[in-house]
Amino acid sequence: MGAQVYADTYLKILSFNNYNKQGFSYIIDGNGDFLVKPGRDKSKDLNFFNRGMKFIGKSKEEIIGQFREENYGTFLFKQNGQRYAACYAIIDNPDRYVMTVVPLSVMMLHINKLLSGLILIVVTISVLLLFLLYYNNKLLGRHEKIVYEIAFVDKITGGNNRNCFGIKAREFLDKNPDKKYAMICVEITKFRALNELYGVENANKILMDFYNLLNNNLQDGSICARDHASTFVILYQYDREDFIAKYFIDKILDEIELYNKTSMQLTSKTSGMALGSKLNLIFGVYLINEKDEPVEQMYERANIAKRTIGNEVYNVCKFYDDNLRAKILQEKAIEDEMVYALADRQFCMYLQPKFNLQTGELAGAEALARWIHPVKGLIPPMYFIPLFEKNGFVREVDKYIWKLACEFLAERKREGAKLFPISVNVSRIHMDDDKFIDELILLTRKYGVDTKYLELELTESACFNNEKRFKEAVQTLKELGFVVSMDDFGTGYSSLNMLRNLPMDVLKLDRGFIKDTIKDTKGQIVTKSIIEMANKLNMTTVAEGIETEEQAEFLRSIGCQIAQGFLYGKPTETKEFIEIFMKNAR
Ligand code: C2E
Ligand code: MG
Ligand code: MG
Repeated sequence: MGAQVYADTYLKILSFNNYNKQGFSYIIDGNGDFLVKPGRDKSKDLNFFNRGMKFIGKSKEEIIGQFREENYGTFLFKQNGQRYAACYAIIDNPDRYVMTVVPLSVMMLHINKLLSGLILIVVTISVLLLFLLYYNNKLLGRHEKIVYEIAFVDKITGGNNRNCFGIKAREFLDKNPDKKYAMICVEITKFRALNELYGVENANKILMDFYNLLNNNLQDGSICARDHASTFVILYQYDREDFIAKYFIDKILDEIELYNKTSMQLTSKTSGMALGSKLNLIFGVYLINEKDEPVEQMYERANIAKRTIGNEVYNVCKFYDDNLRAKILQEKAIEDEMVYALADRQFCMYLQPKFNLQTGELAGAEALARWIHPVKGLIPPMYFIPLFEKNGFVREVDKYIWKLACEFLAERKREGAKLFPISVNVSRIHMDDDKFIDELILLTRKYGVDTKYLELELTESACFNNEKRFKEAVQTLKELGFVVSMDDFGTGYSSLNMLRNLPMDVLKLDRGFIKDTIKDTKGQIVTKSIIEMANKLNMTTVAEGIETEEQAEFLRSIGCQIAQGFLYGKPTETKEFIEIFMKNAR
């Protein structure tokens, strides 16, 4: 009964894989004697190893030895001209093995079939993977493009942005150690006004045109980008220093001139404007000596050079040098300290006397700011006023000096001393905001000062931006009783028209003008005519910077009324001023 069960089980095992009936599986014992044989095998052999086969690679004894020692294994043999592969494995009892024999050709067929199936699967998977890869790449490509555009393309000009510039500039500098480079910063000035006049769209188009204009003038090895607003930056490769201005900057200026005449006119028309605004450019150039300096720093230096151009009309290009750097650092130090210094009362008022040239009497004084620095000592206004005019802090300093002048006048009044007008300087930047008039009214009221004792010195440059507004401000101040004087006449772009148009009370001839013109006859004629003209226009004439008796004598002879200069006295502290000038005032 038990043997019957085993035989059934074994037969199932044997039929498990018989390679389409071309292979045979047997159950044999440890000697190779057949225990179970498939019905298809009609041979009468009783032992597997005694079937007259020829073993391949090993002898019969070796194969039998291997069969007895190992629980499973394979070997090859030849029989009736066919080659077979045999494979055995022990089953449940150490004396029973399953031995499978398959003709090699059949087995190879199976293997080939299996292989081709596998190949098909592999090919299908590969195609699928390739497709996924392609799709992924495409997607990545699209994302990469978007990321690239955000990171490196300037939205307005469609060209390089500052990030891209930084990277490429670094590459250019590193790859070309023998070539000479300059960092150039160029700005279209007063661009905000164009934005407002023509609208953002037209203004953006102008920026794009300008980028293209720059780019078209660059050769291989140079690169440009828009930095911000209407400022552009260029890494320019050059052969000779003088060529930068001659062949690049001048060319850009010529092309802009042409652009102003053509495209700007057109923009005016299309935006319904009856004006042809012009693009004006200013350039800052930094010649690069150390190529491994950070690009940012190179750019900053070009920018520093550009910023020093200010309002100069004919000088549109500045080169960076170390003096400039020192100046910038000095300015920075001043800016860091100025607010504290004002609160700490480090600024004070010096007074310089003015004398009546005809009578020799004290006619008044000019209040001049001085910074008494706790470490650096006395700092003259030329070191801080121009900077404060740039950064706006002059408003505060002016107001402080006006206050000190009012205090001074109020004190003299209280003492019952003879009063003289004190003139204070009013920076041109107050003109942008006529609240300064209210401040002056409040001040004079607070200190009980009669406005006729406060003379306001304005410079011609104050009316450059808006002559109408300037004229109105002067008119209001006069109506309030202030004395208004035109300071520094004869410098810059003084015009006789100004004398005609502006209702000033006093004309102050600049020191430089006096010094230079009265040396020769022609100059004397001009000075005499101006004094005569001003007197006829009911203006009081004041000559500044009188240093010699000769100058004083000449000015007196031509009818100039008042003189201010070292000949009469230098600006001094108020206490000293009172001691020297007011006590002796006749
Ligand atoms: P300014 O208003 O034209 O003042 C006259 C300047 O000429 C003063 O220079 C004065 O010291 C100088 N000066 C007068 N007589 C002579 C002379 O005979 N020889 C020479 N070499 N110089 C003479 P300072 O005090 O250095 O002021 C320079 C400029 O700074 C002033 O020119 C004015 O524009 C500005 N400033 C001074 N204080 C203030 C202020 O409180 N506010 C504003 N906004 N500007 C001020
Ligand atoms: Mg002055
Ligand atoms: Mg002056």
